[in-house]
Amino acid sequence: MITRRKFLSGCIGATAALFGLSLLPEYKAVDQLLKSIPVLLYHRVGSETDDLTISTKRFEEDLASLSQEGYNSLTLAQVKQRLAGNYEQLPDKPVIITFDDGYLDNYTNAFPLLQKYAMKASFYIITGMMGNTDRLNSAQIREMAAAGMDFGSHTVTHRQLADLTSQEVNNELKQSKITLEQTLGKPVDFIAYPCGSYRPDTIQAATHSGYIGGFSTQYGFAAFNNHLAIRRIPVFHNDRSIAYVMLRKGLLPSMMG
Ligand SMILES: [Zn+2]
Repeated sequence: MITRRKFLSGCIGATAALFGLSLLPEYKAVDQLLKSIPVLLYHRVGSETDDLTISTKRFEEDLASLSQEGYNSLTLAQVKQRLAGNYEQLPDKPVIITFDDGYLDNYTNAFPLLQKYAMKASFYIITGMMGNTDRLNSAQIREMAAAGMDFGSHTVTHRQLADLTSQEVNNELKQSKITLEQTLGKPVDFIAYPCGSYRPDTIQAATHSGYIGGFSTQYGFAAFNNHLAIRRIPVFHNDRSIAYVMLRKGLLPSMMG
């Protein structure tokens, strides 16, 4: 039987071989990869069986694996440091944990486990849905923030930004930022684009609205070459172990360009 560790060491062996092969001609690509950080994208944690929900047991296994492998979850303040080029000050083996859509189960199921494993995550809120029966409300958001969790915008209505007029895009970007800043009492610097939908002018609009970081849904490790289009590694219902997900959707595609 192949254990997770054996599987992982096998993959790392293969990766090392790839590094060895590509080290001289592809030095810059490898150098950039080594400075990259995995950004995990979760949605829901609970008993639903849809693609975007993973079980509470599975989420705990993910956190336990990350912890055992020595990963350190970054706060958004630390991500800001990295975006400013200060990656030397970050802990070894950094990982960024993100949640999109602001479901209530993020508070009831994910938050206690994040605290149990001393992990930080950031949650991207659809502000027009805050307080709906299955979504986080402002009191829960404040409680999570007080415990070290971070929050960002996932727009007001969750419409795909690439389909909207520039005025609609501006409203989505600015109004959600204002609502969250009023809820939290501090600046909100990050956005996750609903469904990963954006255009070049969306990124400009996000910059003009005061965002310094934007998360896409493009697969791969975050290389930070575009701060407003940071790649993530999505985790879905039927995915295997987190190590497998990171290697399959993050490291290997990124290495292959
Ligand atoms: Zn979403």
